[in-house]
Amino acid sequence: MTITRFAPSPTGYLHIGGLRTALYCYLWARKSNGEFKLRIEDTDTQRNNKEAMKAIINAFDWLGLEYDGEVYYQSKRLDIYKKYIQQLLDEGQAYYCYMTKDELDTLRQEQINNKQTPRYDGRYRDFKRDIPKNVEPVIRIKAPLEGDIIVDDGIKSVVKFSCSQIDDFIIARSNGMPTYNFVVTIDDYLMNISHVIRGDDHLINTPKQMIIYQALGFNIPKFFHVPMINNPQGKKLSKRDGALDVMEYKKQGYLPHALLNFLVRLGWSNKDQEIFSMQEMLDLFNPSNINKSASIYNESKLLWLNAHYIKNMSNDDLVKELKYFDCLLFDNNKKELILNLCKQRVQTLVELKNSINLLINKPSSYEQKGVKKFIKDNTIIFLNKYLQLLEKENNNILSSNDFESISQTFIKEEELKFPQFFQPLRLALTGHTQAPSVYDIMEVLGYDEVCSRINKAVQCTFNTSL
Ligand code: GLU
Repeated sequence: MTITRFAPSPTGYLHIGGLRTALYCYLWARKSNGEFKLRIEDTDTQRNNKEAMKAIINAFDWLGLEYDGEVYYQSKRLDIYKKYIQQLLDEGQAYYCYMTKDELDTLRQEQINNKQTPRYDGRYRDFKRDIPKNVEPVIRIKAPLEGDIIVDDGIKSVVKFSCSQIDDFIIARSNGMPTYNFVVTIDDYLMNISHVIRGDDHLINTPKQMIIYQALGFNIPKFFHVPMINNPQGKKLSKRDGALDVMEYKKQGYLPHALLNFLVRLGWSNKDQEIFSMQEMLDLFNPSNINKSASIYNESKLLWLNAHYIKNMSNDDLVKELKYFDCLLFDNNKKELILNLCKQRVQTLVELKNSINLLINKPSSYEQKGVKKFIKDNTIIFLNKYLQLLEKENNNILSSNDFESISQTFIKEEELKFPQFFQPLRLALTGHTQAPSVYDIMEVLGYDEVCSRINKAVQCTFNTSL
């Protein structure tokens, strides 16, 4: 059975690089009815952050990435790790090392001076003399002294690490706490992980983990080390480029599926397909097809996908999504009309909310740039005339077609140019010149509200704050 895991360290928020890894693990497990597990790597008590832990779980909820079973917390599993450390000590595969920090520093300096790679020299490996007093020892594993460790990676192919580069590394600190590589290995084994999919910044740890697997006689999972996501300049993603807390994307008005679709393509592809339903992702994704080189974060692609999903979402679902935002839509009986009108033109839910609120709110001021450009001496005169014409119709005009035909006749009779008429009308109705089609706005607002808004604009001649 395929069993994958996502194993974040809660030292910071979950950002999109981590989320992409989680998505790949999720897809690969779900595709074959396997299991996807969540493990919180929280043994670094100094750097752990409770808020970050919560944020990771919230992000999974928001995105609908369900994990199987309980969340594993490494901090609750210390006894398990200690048992395996004791086993290695008992078998003579690990040993206490009494080297002090000063001794280590001196050794390191000597090696650097001799142009050697700094590494522990194994002086306590088979130590038979008296053990030094007053030193709390660390525990080191006996790493192979020669040969290569070969990682047969599903993305990088065969990567060789020479044992001459790997020293007897520490598996437990002097305070008894097991080290990172040790706990990862024990957990991956005990959780029956079949496929380890993770960022390629961890490739360097893999030979050490393999040494631990081998020492304990564990089966080694299949590794997939996923190349990083870079910014458009080819550098590491920074906050400004999008390495944000995933929940920030929610605040900015992205739909969960748009983000997942964006991430699945960031490092993996299926011909030139851009839009993937969850089912298509499950059908088509395979970690062996993950790109070998780093991918580039492209915000406009994300916006494009988000716009696509907003436009194609049912209005009922959009209403649900908008609940998170401060949107005035909810008790409006023209919900459908408003959403159909506004969802065509926006890229995020925040923009959708703004454009809906803009329509529903009476203008509290008029956009100055638009007023300067479009409100001329004769504007008030013809708007007044137009208002009289509307009033004559006395509530008979309802649809955008009705408003269109009456307006077209008016424009012709008054010999007006389109922008000369439309932009002041837009300003009167919404306070802005950037708004959806005037006739659709009029239908949404309804006859009485249209007349009242034009009347107000005419009364204050567009130049006061109302
Ligand atoms: N805890 C590690 C991290 O957050 C991941 C370890 C792993 O996937 O093996 O980068």
